[in-house]
Amino acid sequence: MFDEVQELYQETILDHCKNPRHFMEMKDATCSAHGHNPLCGDQLKLFLRVDEGIIREVSFVGSGCCISKASASLLTETVVGKTTEEALRIFDAVHRMITTGKPDPSLGKLVVLAGVSKYPTRVKCAMLAWHALAAAIKGQTTQVTTELDER
Ligand code: ZN
Repeated sequence: MFDEVQELYQETILDHCKNPRHFMEMKDATCSAHGHNPLCGDQLKLFLRVDEGIIREVSFVGSGCCISKASASLLTETVVGKTTEEALRIFDAVHRMITTGKPDPSLGKLVVLAGVSKYPTRVKCAMLAWHALAAAIKGQTTQVTTELDER
């Protein structure tokens, strides 16, 4: 447990966990999605305001472990200003990185999430917000659950 804490709760993760960015409801969101990770109890709702294919604003609310919150917070910083296609490409790259553990330099500060790969239950925590992002962009109205992410 101690090793896990040391490895996962790096400075960036701790910072985003304690002070999540864009942590609020969005009144004029154009799409949103719920995410739920029953294994850990993480729940969140992600809001997007998409205009002409570009994500103008992102925010989230919810409760969960440090990893799920930090990953959601990092997500909001990463995808704002991107097109929805770019955001889905980032989703794929993050998913690849978190499941393989190979840091992807093109992902900037998101590389702090690569270490999560060693802890399968934490992968679901880290991916929760990203699944919600993909669901919101694809316009799914059903709740996403990380159980779909089994591999
Ligand atoms: Zn969690």
